[in-house]
Amino acid sequence: DWINDHGAQRVCALLSDAGYQVYFVGGCVRNDLLGVGISDLDMCTDALPARVMELAEAAGLRALPTGIDHGTVTIVIDHEPYEITTYRKDVQTDGRRAVVAFSDRIEDDARRRDFTMNALYADPTGQILDPLDGLPDLQARRVRFIDDADARIREDYLRTLRFFRFHAWYGDVAAGIDPEGLAACSANLDGLETLSKERVGLEMLKILSAPDPAPAMAAMAQSGVLTRILPGGDASKLAVLVHLEADLAVDSLRRLALLGGQDVAVALRLSKKQAKQLENLRDGMGSSATIGELAYRLGADQARNIAILRAVMFETPVPDGLERQIDAGAAAKFPIKPVDLMPGITGPALGDKLRELETRWIASGFILTREELLK
Ligand code: ATP
Ligand code: MG
Repeated sequence: DWINDHGAQRVCALLSDAGYQVYFVGGCVRNDLLGVGISDLDMCTDALPARVMELAEAAGLRALPTGIDHGTVTIVIDHEPYEITTYRKDVQTDGRRAVVAFSDRIEDDARRRDFTMNALYADPTGQILDPLDGLPDLQARRVRFIDDADARIREDYLRTLRFFRFHAWYGDVAAGIDPEGLAACSANLDGLETLSKERVGLEMLKILSAPDPAPAMAAMAQSGVLTRILPGGDASKLAVLVHLEADLAVDSLRRLALLGGQDVAVALRLSKKQAKQLENLRDGMGSSATIGELAYRLGADQARNIAILRAVMFETPVPDGLERQIDAGAAAKFPIKPVDLMPGITGPALGDKLRELETRWIASGFILTREELLK
């Protein structure tokens, strides 16, 4: 469907009418062949970025040099951005970012990509171009580095995390992770420290968002990658969690809470909101608060998450009547207002008293009425 996208076809026509090559590449082609949804459209061309801009502007379209060093131009069509990147080839690297030069050969462009399944191209009619034999790997759901895995990782250590990400999402669990790729990840652990924590965190959450990340996480743990990016992280119970949460929407933070580790929010540079949610989950797992209390304080979703996490951590069954307890807590409204206690109680004592009454009310299972509490 996306290939018939009006804006994308407009971009294609713009370039091919001027005699240039234009292809879709990467995730959209890969996912289409796998029959799964796509997250973004990546397009590429042999036209130089300045030429892409010129052609767009001549057609009356807005074009922005969004990543001109990397050769990416964004063309805006019907308020939608379309990114198109000039073919590139790697010339020299510093271990973090490949230094690239533009190329007019699609084979160069393919070779600098990470995995064979990510080096598949589709022309504007949907015809597949497979310069590096990615199709057999895709069909076997085998995530394989292009050329020498070790050398490719040393060019860009983010590829280690991408390796686990694509295996988590698209790999064949029965066949297992590619041993050569895994060995190369193990051999290059130090390089992971050169990555920004933010990029590591984003990749980690993408891995954990896969339908079943447990096999990939187990491989990550086995290779030493997990503890390098998340000291103290433990993936040994993840498969149990994935099983128990099967009926719930995927929640990468719930999974991350189970892994644990030291200073997770810092190690993965989580947003404030994510850090708070994770803290609530971890605190809830370790506390003796009832599910009702958790639902009252944190809401239904977090309470349910904590109940499941406790069951996994302590190898206990998910409590009977869980949803009833959650509903009761989430719906409960503390019946006392500060004015109810005034003027008899004021100042700091007022807050203490309110908290005390709230604690009693929660302990009663939200049963005590306003009158009973005031008495
Ligand atoms: P998705 O968009 O579904 O997450 P994707 O494969 O499209 O997956 P992107 O990050 O959008 O991933 O990158 C687009 C393409 O660019 C990839 O398919 C790959 O060919 C190439 N690519 C991206 N990052 C790297 C990298 N670090 N090293 C080499 N090639 C890369
Ligand atoms: Mg993409």
